[in-house]
Amino acid sequence: MSNFITRASSINRALDQIGDKWCLLILQEVFWGINSFNEMLSATGVSKGVLSERLKWLQSIDCLHKKADGEGGKRMSYHLTRKSIDLYDCALMAVAWERRFFNTPELDSVTLLHRKCGSAFEPQMRCRSCNGGVHPAEVTYKPGPGARHDVRQKKVRRRSSLSVQDVPSSRSLYKNLVNLVGDRWTANVIALSFHGLTRFDQFHHELPVATNILADRLKFLVDEGVFRQFAYRQRPLRHEYQLTVKGEALYPWFLALLQWGDKWCGVDGSGRPMRLTHETCGRNLRGQVECSACGGALKAHEVQFSLPQ
Ligand SMILES: [Zn+2]
Ligand SMILES: [Zn+2]
Repeated sequence: MSNFITRASSINRALDQIGDKWCLLILQEVFWGINSFNEMLSATGVSKGVLSERLKWLQSIDCLHKKADGEGGKRMSYHLTRKSIDLYDCALMAVAWERRFFNTPELDSVTLLHRKCGSAFEPQMRCRSCNGGVHPAEVTYKPGPGARHDVRQKKVRRRSSLSVQDVPSSRSLYKNLVNLVGDRWTANVIALSFHGLTRFDQFHHELPVATNILADRLKFLVDEGVFRQFAYRQRPLRHEYQLTVKGEALYPWFLALLQWGDKWCGVDGSGRPMRLTHETCGRNLRGQVECSACGGALKAHEVQFSLPQ
């Protein structure tokens, strides 16, 4: 297994831009209609300094756009851009995963309505070619035209070590997902497991991470029920980490993020770094988020939702 997976991955490119707990939480709030600095402050529980730094960052990567409201222009509000509206598939798959595995009354009480067919729905990820479901074990990977670009993070950003669960937020609707993917190593380990990696040494070979941190993240993923741990050797004791149903169900979110990264985080028009094949139908995999009621592809403007108060 070559380590092209991590180096040339649109998941990594996307995480470089938005894969930080606070960025994910801020974007989540804007998706749910929270637009002003003060509303975000109380909704996320973030400090003023961190919020203003992340808002600047999100504007610099063209994921938020600031607008003056009303006369005098003293009140500013933050809005989605074409680029961040495209994260809609990720947001829908985050909702689906949280609803399936956690009991969050606020989120469970949200009704998603597909205006086109008039029905309440759950979002589903399907292959655009064969319309089949997408399972990580049925997807294979080859380097794509952009694979040679070794993308290094240009701006090393200060990351908060605060766990989202420590945040006194009244409305972190997909905090469980953000808590997993808002940590870079954890997100990387999950992404690698979708490529079939299961052992400590395999993860360590792919990631420039200290062994104690990797061990800590693997333990965290076992505790969170994303991995199941098996001993594959007794002396010395060695474990294998396999995705649980809950872990496999994160795949649609990662696929949506990968597709977003392909579209918005490419390097110099060099093309996508990885080609995905849906082995079930043998074609290029292009995931599409669909309405469970009518099977139609979901577009942001066709989805209506009720926000819990
Ligand atoms: Zn297919
Ligand atoms: Zn529908």
